[in-house]
Order: sequence, then structure tokens, then C-alpha cells
Amino acid sequence: MTLTPEIHMPENTLIRLIDKLEQRRDLSRKEWTQLIRGRTPKAAEYLFERSRAVRIRHYGYDVYIRGLIEFTNYCKNDCYYCGIRKSNPDAERYRLTKEDILSCCEQGYVLGFRTFVLQGGEDGWFTDERLTDIISSMRKGWPDCAITLSIGERSPESYQKLYEAGANRFLLRHETYDAEHYSRLHPQALTAAHRQDCLRSLKETGYQVGTGFMVGSPYQTPKNLADDMLFLKEINPQMVGIGPFIPHHDTPFAKEPAGPLELTLFMLGLIRLLLPKALLPATTALGTIAPDGREQGILAGANVVMPNLSPASVREKYLLYDNKLCTGSEAAESLEDLRQRMKRIGYRVAVSRGDSLNM
Ligand code: SAH
Repeated sequence: MTLTPEIHMPENTLIRLIDKLEQRRDLSRKEWTQLIRGRTPKAAEYLFERSRAVRIRHYGYDVYIRGLIEFTNYCKNDCYYCGIRKSNPDAERYRLTKEDILSCCEQGYVLGFRTFVLQGGEDGWFTDERLTDIISSMRKGWPDCAITLSIGERSPESYQKLYEAGANRFLLRHETYDAEHYSRLHPQALTAAHRQDCLRSLKETGYQVGTGFMVGSPYQTPKNLADDMLFLKEINPQMVGIGPFIPHHDTPFAKEPAGPLELTLFMLGLIRLLLPKALLPATTALGTIAPDGREQGILAGANVVMPNLSPASVREKYLLYDNKLCTGSEAAESLEDLRQRMKRIGYRVAVSRGDSLNM
């Protein structure tokens, strides 16, 4: 377990690093590594006090919601961690039609969603032509809503066309910055460098971008996480999605342990101090490893939740990892449940596009 904090730093050194991070919004690679490797429960408590304060200063007690539409689980890639990788013959594949997607938006709008996220595997069936048709219909139907794409690596020309069709935001986690670590999580055809180039191209096109990484993925070290923080600083994204790695039974990583909750929360707190105005979701994966994972995420500095707006009939098929939540507060139609849960910790679900202040 390379990520277990073994070498505890003196508490005051950790506090000093956290203060420095808050003031300068920057640390050296060495300092990031020290802080991540040496973290203690006390330092985490201090960090969350600071990260919560920063979050409240910029976003108050608002929690932004996004309706997640998982529109295809076909994928041409073979990421070792992912349950919908192409060489999983047991994944039951599906694709939503344009009509399905528009009806998700219709239901979502009534519920109070003002951002729709189209997420899927890298599915060649969805050509630029088909996607621009879907996106322009969404744009026409819900002009006051933000449209977010999370559809993986495409060419700069493709990103441009989808942007012109009306998409505003794009989520593409870099997964891990380090090229060698990246190559232990993906087949050779996929590289860290290409993924990072895609992010730069998305930014140039004009998208508000979200990136991020898995916490506790196999072989990850504190140094890898330090590099992830330096990369976030470079990209300066509007949104950062992080969540614990969780094994899926049909993948090469089936027997690997899930990423620690404690470390995921710690990283959330650090990201809030690094990028005070970023949108930070308390992700489904966080809610999956602990019953109150999302609440803990909000209390560590997160300000976004992305309930599932896919048709109920396909929800269980978009299984990126085992036991992925798709009911209760995770389901868009149970928004009331989520409202109550947020209210219990002193926060409120906002009905708005919830744009980033980091523009
Ligand atoms: N095809 C799109 C969407 C990927 S799914 C893309 O390439 O961006 C969204 C995210 O789920 C991924 O970026 C990855 O970080 C996360 N994910 C996939 N498998 C996971 C697992 N086993 N545990 C935790 N997160 C996982």
C-alpha cells in the first residue's frame, strides 16, 4: 500500500504547508509529496476547516447539480480499470437514441436541472454528424441550460464542431499525469501525452474544461498525486472531478483494493485551496465507498453533485466499477432525498447553471 501515510510529519510542518498553499495557491513538487505522504488525521481536520471556509467564501452554501445522461456504454478503449472496456464480453451494451436523450433533458428540466452532462464510452457510432444533431437539438430545446460532454479523446476538429453545435463544457479526466503510471493503467495505444493534448485543445476551442484523476488507482504513489496537483495548476480548469478507484470484477484490476476515502477527501481539500473557484463534484464513486461519502465530500470543499438522469432501464448497465450507485440520492428523480441530505449538513441545492467563477 504505497499510499498509506507511514512517515508522519510533525503536525506543525503540515499545518505550515497547508497555510502556504492557501496563501500562495502553489506548492513545489517536494512540498506536495511531503504533505500527501505525511498527512495525519489532525492535519486533515485543519485542512477541511480551511477548504470549507474558502468554498463558502466563493460559493456560499450552494450545491450545484448536473443531470448525468450516460448515453452509450460501447467503448473502443480497453482501460484496465474500467468495467465497460471493450474486452469485457459480459457488459450488456446499449446506446440511447436522440429521442431518449431529449426526453431525459425534458424530465431533468422539470426536476430543476440546468446542466446536462452527456457521458459515454468512446463509441464510434456517435460520429460528429450524429452528435452535432443531438447537441443542436438540446441547445434549441433548452437555451438556458449548459451542455457538458464527457466522451473521451477526439480530434481538435471534432471538439470544434461539437462546440459550434452548442456544447459549452467538457469533462476529460487526465486520470494520472505521470506517463509511466498512465501506461500501467492503459493499453499502449493510449498515452498520457495525448490525453493532456486533448485537454489543451479543448481549452483553446473555448470549452470550460473539467479534468481530474482517480485516487488510489493501482501503483499510484504520493509523487504521482503531487504531479497531478502540478498539472491542475498548469491547466487551471473550471472543474476538477476526482473519486476513489473502485475495482470492477471483470477487469484486470478485479482484485485491487478500492482507493481510500480518507485520501480522496484530503485531495479534495487540497484542490479547493489550490483552485479556490473551481467546481468540485462529490462524485458517485465517493458516494459508493461510504454511505455519507458525498456529504463528507461537500464538507471537505466540494460544491457539485451529479445525479443520474439516464433512463432507469439502462442505469445498471453503465457499470464502470462494482456496486456503482444509481438509486436513492444518486437518482435524478430522488432530488428531494438529495435536498434533505444537503440540508442536514447545512447546504442547499441550487436551481441554476452553476457556472464556475474560475473563468
Ligand atoms: N469515455 C469518457 C468517460 C469515462 S467514464 C472518457 O474517456 O472521459 C468517467 C470516469 O470514470 C473516468 O474518467 C474514470 O476516471 C472513472 N472511472 C472509470 N473506471 C473507474 C473505476 N473502476 N473506479 C473509479 N473510477 C472509474
